[in-house]
Amino acid sequence: MPDSICVPARINFIDNTHRGVSLRHDLTEIKTVEHILAAINGLGIDNLIIEVSAPEIPVGDGSSQVFVELLKEAEIICQDEYESKTSIKILSPIWVSTENSHIVVLPSEDYKISFTLCLEDSFVGSQFASFSISPEIFEQEIASARTFGFLKEVEQLKKQGLAMGGSLFNTVVIGEDNFLNSLRFKDELVRHKILDMIGDLSLIGRPIQGHVIAVKSGHELNLNLARKILGGGIPCSNRTWVFINQVY
Ligand SMILES: [Zn+2]
Repeated sequence: MPDSICVPARINFIDNTHRGVSLRHDLTEIKTVEHILAAINGLGIDNLIIEVSAPEIPVGDGSSQVFVELLKEAEIICQDEYESKTSIKILSPIWVSTENSHIVVLPSEDYKISFTLCLEDSFVGSQFASFSISPEIFEQEIASARTFGFLKEVEQLKKQGLAMGGSLFNTVVIGEDNFLNSLRFKDELVRHKILDMIGDLSLIGRPIQGHVIAVKSGHELNLNLARKILGGGIPCSNRTWVFINQVY
C-alpha cells in the first residue's frame, strides 16, 4: 500500500485481537492476519514478504486453503540459513488460563496441538481434535477448515456493518439445530481452532517443540501463551536459547 511501512509478523506488533488478529507498525495496520500466517507457518515457511493492496487480508473461503494453493504454486525454497534455524523447545510446562479457557504446553518431541472446543449453548456441544503439525498434516487435515459463526451473531454483525464479506461460502454458520452449510470435516470447527492457534503462535517467530493442549481458547489467550513462551526464554546466540535457567 502506498505510504505504508513494513509490519513484522511478530508478537510486539499486535494491535488488537477483536474478531481476528490485527498487526500495526506506527500508522500502518493490517487486519485479519491469522489465516494467511497459519498457511505460511503450516507449510514450514519462515522467510517471506507479503505485499497487500488493502488494510485487510482477503477472507478467501474462510480457511487457509487459498493461501496454501498459491504458496504451493510458487516455489518454496530451502535457504542456506536453514541449517542455523533453531526452535523453542519446551522443557517444563507453561500455562495460561482465564476463568473458562485454558492452555498448557508440555515438553514433546514434535509440535503437537490438541484442542477441545465447547459450544455448550448450541447443538454442536464439544469437539476434540489432536494433530502433530507437519506440512503434510496441515495441508490435508487443517488448512481447509473454515471459520464459523452463529446465525444470530452473523445477522447482528451485518446490522452493525461488520462481517459484510461473510457468507455461506466462507463461514460455517451454526443455526438453531443444524449447520446451514455442508461441512468439509465432521469436526471442522475444532480443526479451524487449531488453524487459528497455528497462525497465532507463528507470531513467536520460531518453530515450537512442545505439545499445546487448549480448552476453549481464542486469539487473546493464544497470544498470551505466545508472550509467555517468549518471556520465558532469551536468545543468547543464534543457536542457543536460554529457557527458564536451562540451556539447550
Ligand atoms: Zn480463524
